[in-house]
Amino acid sequence: MNFFSNRCPHCEKGRIFKSLIRMHKSCPVCQVPFERESGYFIGAMIAAYFLGVFLALPILLLSVFGFGLSMTQAILLSSLQLVLLQPFLFKYSRILWIRVEAALTRSIHR
Ligand SMILES: [Zn+2]
Repeated sequence: MNFFSNRCPHCEKGRIFKSLIRMHKSCPVCQVPFERESGYFIGAMIAAYFLGVFLALPILLLSVFGFGLSMTQAILLSSLQLVLLQPFLFKYSRILWIRVEAALTRSIHR
């Protein structure tokens, strides 16, 4: 299972996001709701945190140890990087959360 695929984890046909930041409330093909309960996407914030660290840390380390920037400059550069990547972090953290949760739920109920 590709955890970053923009496809419904149940039918693998319907799209989760219709654009970069707009998502369907339920699968357009099988009608399974993507937001299962209120507060469901709080877990996606944890996924966004780890994706952000995974993307920002190499740039931070490279700019300090590779290009000799000061720590302040490196943190500003990484912050700018994360602001610019925010729409992608939003989209892929939700996709990751939906697909991991579906895979875990499926393995528990087998
Ligand atoms: Zn579906």
